[in-house]
Amino acid sequence: MTPQNIKTVEFEKPNLGAEAQAEAGASCVARAWAKVPPALTPNERSALKTRIKALLKARNAVLVAHYYVDADLQDLAEETGGCVSDSLEMARFGRDHPAQTLVVAGVRFMGETAKILSPEKTILMPDLDATCSLDLGCPADQFAAFCDAHPDRTVVVYANTSAAVKARADWMVTSSIGLKIVEHLHAKGEKILWAPDKHLGSYIQRETGADMLLWQGSCLVHDEFKGIELDLLRKDHPNAKVLVHPESPANVVAQADVVGSTSQLIAAAQQLDANEFIVATDNGILHKMRMAAPGKHFIEAPTAGNSATCKSCAHCPWMAMNALTNLAEVLETGRNEIHVDADIGRRAYTCIDRMLDFAAREKARVRPVADLAKEQALFGGVGPA
Ligand code: SF4
Repeated sequence: MTPQNIKTVEFEKPNLGAEAQAEAGASCVARAWAKVPPALTPNERSALKTRIKALLKARNAVLVAHYYVDADLQDLAEETGGCVSDSLEMARFGRDHPAQTLVVAGVRFMGETAKILSPEKTILMPDLDATCSLDLGCPADQFAAFCDAHPDRTVVVYANTSAAVKARADWMVTSSIGLKIVEHLHAKGEKILWAPDKHLGSYIQRETGADMLLWQGSCLVHDEFKGIELDLLRKDHPNAKVLVHPESPANVVAQADVVGSTSQLIAAAQQLDANEFIVATDNGILHKMRMAAPGKHFIEAPTAGNSATCKSCAHCPWMAMNALTNLAEVLETGRNEIHVDADIGRRAYTCIDRMLDFAAREKARVRPVADLAKEQALFGGVGPA
């Protein structure tokens, strides 16, 4: 890697040196890096796509891609019988697909979740260094110490965590089912220890009134959306509906017409009676939104005022590490396999399975027809970031 291929990334993370500070909301700026894939000509892209299609067949592999990765990879996944989805649906699809090899285009925790749900399968990723600021900001050992200090609390973690953090949790949740699960635990009188996303945690706290102790992590993409600038943009587009992912700050969430996971926001773009939308989530989602709602107009929510420095420009630097070049390479070589320690995998499976079971029971519950129709129209599935 030459220096031109590396991008320095800054993000807010909890001040892990002192637990008391972490609880009080103290955070600091951390630095990480991400690789920048080489730019390709149209001919190179086309040749690589043809090669990847042949390699997927030859390896009997299926490609599962997240909504935030490059549009070429999303198209390839759909054209070859794979799927483009949120991380949970990616893992569920991979588990239920007959292929023995899953190629996961996303970030590392997604590959780990796929392996936990399908331990007998080979899971490959275009780049094993593709990570997530939520995962980086929640190291398993420090998180375990935090849990040990609060043994009276039920530990609920977001999908965007390492397998080792999930192994320490009672529940894993996604952004769409998190609210219902916390509501359920709150109704049983349980106090929650929540990690790692502080914005999603405080959104759920506000909505449910639950007693939640929050780990202070954040997503570097969503943390950047700005409430004041969004307010100004809405004035310029008074008919636009605002779609917001709940990893965004409270003053952005407060302006939303719909708050939801990636799958829920795409469904809302499709179903809502509006032609214009302001979208506060990674701009990789716009490819799928435009396909799902042709003719509608999508505007990216502002990430900064005129004088501010944009750290991610609404696109995750780690999702951007998934490229046609490294996808072709892993299919050719079989490198970049995801492994999860068997004991950690078993323990992590328990908290994921608990959520899947809860989601299945929620779906089966009898609800008034009008509510059910409305919910299905807007929120087709259970899905995380
Ligand atoms: S968009 Fe945010 S939450 Fe998603 S992988 Fe990137 S840093 Fe993590």
